[in-house]
Amino acid sequence: MNHDQAFWLPYTANRAFWKAPRVITGARGHYYTTDDGRQLLDGFSGLWTSGLGHCHPRIVAAVQAQVGTLDYGMGFQVSNDRAIALAAEVATMAPAGLERVFFTNSGSESADTALKIALAYHRARGEGQRTRLIGRERGYHGVNFGGMSVGGIPGNRKVFSAALLPGVDHIRHTYSPADMAYSRGQPVWGAQLAEDLERLVALHDASNIAALIVEPVSGSTGILVPPIGYLQRLREICDKYGILLIFDEVITAFGRVGAPFAAARFGVTPDIITTAKGLTNGVIPMGAVIVREQVYQALMQGPEHAVELFHGYTYSGHPVAAAAGLATFEVYREEDSFARARALEPVFEEAIHALKGEPHVVDIRNFGLMGGIELAPRAGAPGERGFEVFLKCFEAGVVIRNGGDILQFSPFLDSTPDELGRIFDTVRTALRSVA
Ligand code: PMP
Repeated sequence: MNHDQAFWLPYTANRAFWKAPRVITGARGHYYTTDDGRQLLDGFSGLWTSGLGHCHPRIVAAVQAQVGTLDYGMGFQVSNDRAIALAAEVATMAPAGLERVFFTNSGSESADTALKIALAYHRARGEGQRTRLIGRERGYHGVNFGGMSVGGIPGNRKVFSAALLPGVDHIRHTYSPADMAYSRGQPVWGAQLAEDLERLVALHDASNIAALIVEPVSGSTGILVPPIGYLQRLREICDKYGILLIFDEVITAFGRVGAPFAAARFGVTPDIITTAKGLTNGVIPMGAVIVREQVYQALMQGPEHAVELFHGYTYSGHPVAAAAGLATFEVYREEDSFARARALEPVFEEAIHALKGEPHVVDIRNFGLMGGIELAPRAGAPGERGFEVFLKCFEAGVVIRNGGDILQFSPFLDSTPDELGRIFDTVRTALRSVA
């Protein structure tokens, strides 16, 4: 068999893809180059990953230097200088109280690591019966068994239903078009939905519940922005019952919401934060789980020679990834990237909401530099219209993303108003041309 099409693409309509492959061969700054030599404006910052732009010279140089200095270092019982330095940077940037950093290689691994730390924490404190995990409808926490189970995307779950973790519940998502369509930033309606957590406590008893995991702003399922007061209320309920609160900040950390973390932007500090993507500007795969000091200390028990947490990856704290992370953090600081993103937010908000009234558009949502345009699904073919708009934009030289019929936007932290204008003009034209 000819193996030209051996690559099985993730989260992709493979049969359609191979009929007309879209192949990128290079990138610089805010643009991709395709295999047929076209320049595409990236309206998605990679896949929420690359807020500083592609092939940032500082990060490229750091990776090149590191790979010739220490390419890999055994990570169990031994560490490397780059990982130690990056952990210090991450802990310094994290909200006060979150002082320890466990490295992973992806957002999915960060989610599963956080859930396992939550279980280990309760057990170490003599509350080993606290095993129930709570997620949220329309939540996305990656594709591994833990994250899939606490996640709330039917498409990700249905084929694997029998293998989902037992003892998992979901609170409702906070999206209600009737109450919040076209709201800008945080909706005023919906904080009362946090009371779902109280109901689960009443149902199961708090003594059985380990943790609640939520994305502060749901990304993959179409930019569901938390109602004002909602996250605060979740924090209060978790505190009341000793439930660990985990924020999945794989998308929202490192400037995406104009702050180092959504936790900082919303003024709500969880017990654990999961990250990936912007940790290295997407250059090398890496994630980090940032943990409250008390959680870490609860696990530091037993004889000193004994391993405290039986968990880790061959590539945890990989020196080349960590070098990319250190360079990324330097650039964040020097370019004042998070403040720039914050300053760009009103421009982005105006630009995206200008599409109100265009064909098929039923809602527009934004927070930080995250945006979603929801389209009415085509009768009998959900997702088809969104995919067609994505394709038309791609042909017109702009990369966006469609999650079903929700168009998604994630500009660079230093995108220009002109670039935003071009992205949304392209989308407008596409919307007017699809049936
Ligand atoms: N959590 C969230 C909130 C995400 O958005 C993602 C990926 N977009 C993940 C987890 C999974 O990350 P990865 O694809 O790196 O495993």
